[in-house]
Amino acid sequence: MRLFDKPAHVLHDMLVKKEITAVALTQDVLDRIDEVDGEVKAYLTVTREDALAQAAAVDAKLARGESISFWEGIPGAIKDNICTKGIRTTCASKMLENFVPPYNATVMEKIAEVNPVILGKANMDEFAMGGSTENSAYFPTANPWQHDCVPGGSSGGSAAAVAAGTAVWALGSDTGGSIRQPASFCGVVGMKPTYGRVSRYGLVAFASSLDQIGPITRDVTDCAHLLNVIAGYDEKDSTSTKAEVPDFTKSLVQDVKGLKIGMPKEYFAKGLDPEVEKSVRAAIAQLESLGAEIVEISLPHTAYAISAYYLIAPAEASSNLARYDGVSYGERVDGIDIVDMMTKTRSEKFGEEVKRRIMIGSYALSAGYYDAYYLKALKVRTLVKQDFDQAFEKVDVIMSPAAPTPAYKIGEMASDPLKMYMQDVYTVPLNLAGLPGISVPCGFSSAGLPIGLQIIGKALAEDTLIRAAYTYEQSQQFHNKIAGLGGENA
Ligand code: GLN
Repeated sequence: MRLFDKPAHVLHDMLVKKEITAVALTQDVLDRIDEVDGEVKAYLTVTREDALAQAAAVDAKLARGESISFWEGIPGAIKDNICTKGIRTTCASKMLENFVPPYNATVMEKIAEVNPVILGKANMDEFAMGGSTENSAYFPTANPWQHDCVPGGSSGGSAAAVAAGTAVWALGSDTGGSIRQPASFCGVVGMKPTYGRVSRYGLVAFASSLDQIGPITRDVTDCAHLLNVIAGYDEKDSTSTKAEVPDFTKSLVQDVKGLKIGMPKEYFAKGLDPEVEKSVRAAIAQLESLGAEIVEISLPHTAYAISAYYLIAPAEASSNLARYDGVSYGERVDGIDIVDMMTKTRSEKFGEEVKRRIMIGSYALSAGYYDAYYLKALKVRTLVKQDFDQAFEKVDVIMSPAAPTPAYKIGEMASDPLKMYMQDVYTVPLNLAGLPGISVPCGFSSAGLPIGLQIIGKALAEDTLIRAAYTYEQSQQFHNKIAGLGGENA
């Protein structure tokens, strides 16, 4: 019996009932990696031996008659911008090719407490800059559904691994859509929590006021369980929130009666692929038939969100990436003097997209342009947030597509960064406003590629998102499909 195609909650029950062992489960997922990762290329590093040793420890516990908690022995993958003690963390950059962190990110400390199996580190766009995982300095990842298509990005390795059955769960990071968009492209569940809900300590910084770590899972049940593990205040992250963390699994209830769903008219406008629109509208109608109420709303500053994001994110990135100078952090390329050394290091070790962002960011922050670009973008950010504040006076959640199209072909947008930036139209506004969002599978295009429904919530209302997403998921069966198997979950 193969095991890689099952969600964590099913596997946990099987472990508890002793129908399977943790070693058999981990071995099955490692076999799956051997079978498909040569083509999908979701992994930068596979920690095979450690994974089997972790699994054996769980089996020993079970053999002693001890009970195990939900995540024990369940294998998962970590995006390669999250620091893992003793495991290489490259950010998919040549700059960090040999970086082995001496410490764990706070999320990894929290994960370690619940004792899952860590399979390795997932591919991504270099420093999380991109939306297709083509910007990895090592290799692009393929969409498990169609290998000539991108998996989305920047957490493309994490989403592709979960979709291909080469990981049961994964962690990603989302600065402008990098969890939700690849989840949508790969037909899995991905959540960006509220800014501050999950500690960023040990997440290699891209744009600090926007970055957030979140779960990528096979279904909403696993998402709630994983969020329970990683959420919470951390004194090591001054931007983490002290808000109480509810038990998110309590929101796994099928009930949307009276839930007010806002549909922003600006999100169902020109540029939206007709098949995506059809699936998303059908999903929202499905929730209406289950008792939700649909309200048309307006988020009038939507059109400016991308421009603001592509000034603020690069501005913060240019500052965050200044530390890679060949001395304090990262690789070094020798030069005849210090300026030559730094120039060579940064020219050779950063990829094209990273350098583009550093240049845009430095320009936007420079004296004389600061007011015209950076300050203006901050003002737009406030307006985008006010749009949401006003909308949430009338509705409980907002629903939209996660991305304007299904996955596109590898190489299709690589030469046109602006076109690729437009892909983030429905995701970046949430990061600007700090709000939580989840992408749930809601259908397939005629070409057989997954489509994702995005549900947006008020700050700290992940519980409401989980309830709405779970209700929808249980009324449909799209999440029961595994890429490459083309059929129902066993
Ligand atoms: N696609 C967006 C960008 O390129 C989002 C990236 C992210 O969320 N990490 O910046």
